[in-house]
Parts: sequence; C-alpha cells; structure tokens
Amino acid sequence: MTPAVAVHPIVSPWGRFGLYSFFIDAPEPAIVDTGIASSPAEGLAPALAAIGRRVEDVRWILLTHGHIDHVGGAHALWELTGRRAQVVIHEADAPLLRSRRAHVDEYVAGRAQYLHDPDGESRLSAAADAVISGEMEPTLLVRGGERISLGGDVTVSVHSIPGHTPGSVAYVIDGQDDVFVGDAVQVHGAANGFPGFVDPAGYRAGLQYLREEIRPQHLYLGHPYRRADGTPYGVELDAEQAREALQASQEIEARVGDAACRCLDAGLQDTDSPYSPFARVAEELGYAGDPSLEPSPFFTTLHGYRTTFDQMTKHEELRTHG
Ligand SMILES: [Zn+2]
Repeated sequence: MTPAVAVHPIVSPWGRFGLYSFFIDAPEPAIVDTGIASSPAEGLAPALAAIGRRVEDVRWILLTHGHIDHVGGAHALWELTGRRAQVVIHEADAPLLRSRRAHVDEYVAGRAQYLHDPDGESRLSAAADAVISGEMEPTLLVRGGERISLGGDVTVSVHSIPGHTPGSVAYVIDGQDDVFVGDAVQVHGAANGFPGFVDPAGYRAGLQYLREEIRPQHLYLGHPYRRADGTPYGVELDAEQAREALQASQEIEARVGDAACRCLDAGLQDTDSPYSPFARVAEELGYAGDPSLEPSPFFTTLHGYRTTFDQMTKHEELRTHG
C-alpha cells in the first residue's frame, strides 16, 4: 500500500471570515483554493516555508468555485510559481476567473434586487478590484469526471456538484477519499448564519452525491461553517463529522426549502422588513441575521428558490394551456 499523501490546511484571515486553502504534498504539489489577493504572499508562502516546502514549486492550483475569496489569490499564486502551475476551474465558473466585472454582474442579476443599496454595485466593484489579484484564462477547464495526475501515483478526481455556484466541484484524492468541497457543504452557513446557494436542486443533489457516493474519509470545507448551536466545524472533518455535516446540510436545506415554498405559494409581498419580500421565511426559520451583509446568502438562496418556483409555475402553465 502506498503511503498516504499529506494534506496541510492553511488559514488566511479576512474580515469576518476565515479563508481555508489546502496544500496537497504530492510529487507535483497542489494548492486547493487561493484566498484573496494578499493570501499567496502573506498566508500561503510562509505556511509552506514552515513545513519545508516552497510556493514556487506548486504545480497545480485547484479552484473549487469562482467566488472572490477562493479565486482572488489565483493570479498572484500563479505568478509566484513562475506561471508554471496549471490553474483548474469548472467551465461554468471560469468567467469569474477571467473577469472582475463578472462578479459585479452576478451581484446585480441576483441579490442586488432585494438589497435596495444605491452604493452596492460600486462597492462590490471596488472589492473585486482590491481582492482579485488579476484576471486570467484558466489553463485547464473541467466539467467533472476528469482525473488529474499530481505525479507519481497520486491522482485527484473532479466531481461536479453545482448548487453553491453553477461550477462548484469537489476534488477527491483517489484511494484515500480526502475530499475538498469549497463552499458546497454549508451546514448553517458561516459568518452570516444562513446557507448560500444559487441552485437549490443542484445543492440538494450534490449533498446526496457526496454522502452516498463519495463518502469522504476526510472532508475539507472552505470556511468554518457552523452547526445548529453556532459552533464552527474545524478545518478538517473526519468520516463521522463529515456524515454529520452532510446530513445537517441536507436537513437545513429541506427546512429552508419548505419555508421558501410556503412563502412563494402565498405570494411574495414587499414590506419594510429587511428580509422583504421573504420576511415570512426569516420569521418561520427564526433567522435574525443581517441579510444585507455580503455575500448575502439569505437573498442569494431565496432568489434561487424563487427562480426555480417561477420556472416550475411556467412549466405548469404551459402544460395546462398547451
Ligand atoms: Zn463561495
């Protein structure tokens, strides 16, 4: 039996969030997720030096999805490797690596319509400028189903688990079932206390796939996501904690989904509640977090249910009138 490949979690602080990156100590070393623009020089390089590894030797930059706190450091890290690392992302999230503006467009098309914040767009644009180290073309686009060789007999397989974003993927170290999911397993969410996903059906299916097919021996999350009692999971979950986190994520999605359906069935109402037009959902779930704090998972997620509901309603109408 070949010895296990070591995984080293690296934490970079950022505002209210802890950003997790991971070093896979393979013959061709890999970093999973890159934090923000400052993370490679200030977080990753010294953390690697402390374990006797060099950031310039990294040969794979594996991005779990396109959000700014995961891809923000990608260009800077790529530069530190002398542009020799392969940069990997799912094709559906690749626009977020290619363009800062894509992050602003996503904000405007989704959560912005509930936030009524006249400065929101310019603030997000400024954040994208500051936090993303550079726009770049990925060197390897994936869709799920690929197997990437990290040298020797170390391989990582790529699994598509859309939901948190359209291009979210899990990277699995083959043979030892170490699983990196970025933000695709949210439990009760991180600092905002609410799980964030654009596609509820995809999120649901991804959780089930991880729990029943992948069965992580170790699960590595993108942030310190929280349990129902507010305590965060650690940076590395063992098999039992992974099962617990996946099951809890499924249960909270079911509760949010039920509340969203009742609210959408009753018809959305604009009120002066900060949760408007989904005040009923916040009330039913007892959610008292600030829904306007970026990245505003409350509105991102409820907009996802609303979009799904509208599509289903349209489909029903077509069937009735067709
Ligand atoms: Zn994310």
